Amino acid sequence: MSNKTKLHKRPAWIEAGVMDEEELCPECFKAVGVRSRYKLICALGKLKNGVTVSKLTELLGLKQPTVTHHLNILKSINAVEVEDRGRERIYTLNRKAHCFEECKIPY
Ligand SMILES: [Zn+2]
Repeated sequence: MSNKTKLHKRPAWIEAGVMDEEELCPECFKAVGVRSRYKLICALGKLKNGVTVSKLTELLGLKQPTVTHHLNILKSINAVEVEDRGRERIYTLNRKAHCFEECKIPY
């Protein structure tokens, strides 16, 4: 990424040592700058076959609109992928996203 000028501090909920970078690029900060959004990434990281919004709602104990809101933000930075399987909408973590490959956000 070219935009290295505007960095954000690593949020406290991402342990140092797990993530060596002390500062995040704007895109990654967008991904994990909110605690429940980072939790969402961790949940998606464990669910390798993808998951529905309602399942995520259940797992995280958040309201469905909240989960959808976070997913949309993650989608906007290409951190999650959506796929329609039959009647279900399945979300998976895009492990190839810049945030995970390049900036090494742990999940
Ligand atoms: Zn980044």
